[in-house]
Amino acid sequence: MENANERNKNPVAWSYSRLSSYELCPKKYHAESVAKSVPFVKNEQALYGEQVHKAFEDYFKKAKPLPLNLKHWTPTLELIGSAPGEQIAETKIALSVNYEPVEYYSKDAWLRVISDLTIVNKSKAWCVDWKTGKPRNDDGTQLKLNAAVTFLLDPDITEITLSYLYLQTKSLTATKMNVNEAPEFWASILPRVWVYTKAHEDRHFPPRPGWICRFCPVKSCEFWERK
Ligand code: SF4
Repeated sequence: MENANERNKNPVAWSYSRLSSYELCPKKYHAESVAKSVPFVKNEQALYGEQVHKAFEDYFKKAKPLPLNLKHWTPTLELIGSAPGEQIAETKIALSVNYEPVEYYSKDAWLRVISDLTIVNKSKAWCVDWKTGKPRNDDGTQLKLNAAVTFLLDPDITEITLSYLYLQTKSLTATKMNVNEAPEFWASILPRVWVYTKAHEDRHFPPRPGWICRFCPVKSCEFWERK
C-alpha cells in the first residue's frame, strides 16, 4: 500500500469519466482502468463518438470540412462558430491537488479535463460538449466541472454558458454558471472524489451489479451475465 509521502508525490488522478466509471461498478472500473486485466473494448458508439470529436476538432482547429457522414452538421457548427470570442477546441487541461495547472500527463496531475470547445469573450465564455449518446441525468456535472476549471484558469471569466450538442436528438442545451456558484459545485463533487480516492488507497473495488453486468468484460465476476 502507498504511504502518505508517495500519495503526496503521486495524487490519485481523476477525471469525470474515471469517476463515473468507478461509481457505475468499482470492480469493472478496476479491471479495465487500473489493473488493465481485461481489454478496454470500445463499442460502435464509442468509436463513432471518437470520429465525431476528431472531425469537429479539425473543423474548428484547422477549418477542415466535415466528412461526408457528418456534413449535415456544418450549418450547426457554423452557427456555433459565429459566436464572438476566441475559439479553443479540444483542449486537455490538468490541475494539481493545489488547483494549479500542470502538464496533462505529469505525475502531479490530479484532475484531468478535456474541453471540446470553449469560446472566450472577455468576462463571458461558452463551453460546448459534443454528445453522441443519449441525454443522461448526470450530464450537467461534466460541463460544470469544465466550467469550474475554466474559472480557475481565467479569473477574468465570471459567467459561462454550458451547452451539450446532442447529435442523437439534434438538440443544443444551454444553462449558465456564475463564478459564485463554483465553490458550491466543488463542495458537491469533492465528496465523490474522496470516496474514489479512498478506494484506490485501500485498493477496495467491490462489484456493484446492475444493468451494466450484461455488457461487462469481467467474465470472472460472480455477477457477470451473458448478453
Ligand atoms: S459483472 Fe457486473 S458487478 Fe461484476 S464487474 Fe461487471 S459490472 Fe461489476
